[in-house]
Amino acid sequence: MKKYLKNHINKRGRTYLYRVDDIHPCILWERLENLIELFKEYNVVPLLGIIPDNKDSSLKYETEKPLYWDIIKDMIEKGEIEICQHGYQHIYSTVQRSINQNLYGRVSPSEFANLPYEVQRDKIKRGMEILNSHGLYTDIWMAPSHTNDKNTFKALKSLGFKYITDGVAAYPFKKHGLTFIPQQIWEPKKEFVSGVFTICLHLDDLTEELIEDIREHLQSEDQIISFSQATKIKKRLHHKLFNIIYRLKRILYYHVIRRYRNIKKYRKKKYNNNKTDKAK
Ligand SMILES: [Zn+2]
Repeated sequence: MKKYLKNHINKRGRTYLYRVDDIHPCILWERLENLIELFKEYNVVPLLGIIPDNKDSSLKYETEKPLYWDIIKDMIEKGEIEICQHGYQHIYSTVQRSINQNLYGRVSPSEFANLPYEVQRDKIKRGMEILNSHGLYTDIWMAPSHTNDKNTFKALKSLGFKYITDGVAAYPFKKHGLTFIPQQIWEPKKEFVSGVFTICLHLDDLTEELIEDIREHLQSEDQIISFSQATKIKKRLHHKLFNIIYRLKRILYYHVIRRYRNIKKYRKKKYNNNKTDKAK
C-alpha cells in the first residue's frame, strides 16, 4: 500500500472522493465519529448516505443514538460532511441488474427498480419528507445496492434530485437528465486512467487495515475532493473517451481476466485434491 502511495502520480489527474453508506440512528456510532475525525484532520469532507427510515435489521448494531438528527445537522453546518438520500427504508422487495453490475449481467436485490413509477416516486418522496422534517435537504441520490431503473430516475427528476452517486466511468457523466458522479472502488486504489474516483465505505467493513490505508491515502498527494466539488468539474473532450476505456477495461477484467483466474484456481484445486487422493 505504502508503495502505491509513493508512486502515485497525482499530476495525471486522478481525483478521489469518499462516501459512507448506510447511515441511520442505530449504526456503529463510534466508528463513524472516529472516521469523521480522521477526515477532519485532513480537511476531507465525505458524503454520507442517510437512510431516512431504516427498517433493515441487518444494519442495526446499537440502540438509537440520542439526538441523532441534530448531530447530523450540526456536522453539515460545520462543513464536516455532506449528505445524500440513501433509499427510503433499505428494504429489498425486487431484484434488478445493478448499475455497477449491469455491464456484467449480475442481479442485485432492490428497493426500487422494477416497481411501478408511482410506487417508486411515493417511496422516494416519503424518504425526502422525513429528511426535510429534520431540517435536512439534499438533491443527491444513492440507491441501495446500486439499483435504479428508468422510473427511479424519472421520479427523482420530478422530485428535484439532480445528482446520483453511482455508475461505472472515469469521469462524471449525464444520463436520464441527471448528473452521475461515478462510484468505482471500495478502498483507496490506484486506477489506470485519470478520472474522478469515489471510494465507497461501509462502517461494518472498516477493518484496522482499511483505516490505515485510508489514513495513508489522506496523507498522500492525491487530490481528494467533496461531492459538491465533483459536481463542478468542467467537462472536457477526453472525458467521454476515458469513460469508454474505463468501462471496456472493467468488462474485459470481469469477463476474461477474472474468469481465467477462476479457471486456473479451480484447476489447481482439482490437481491438489487428486494428489491427496492418490497419497491416501
Ligand atoms: Zn445501503
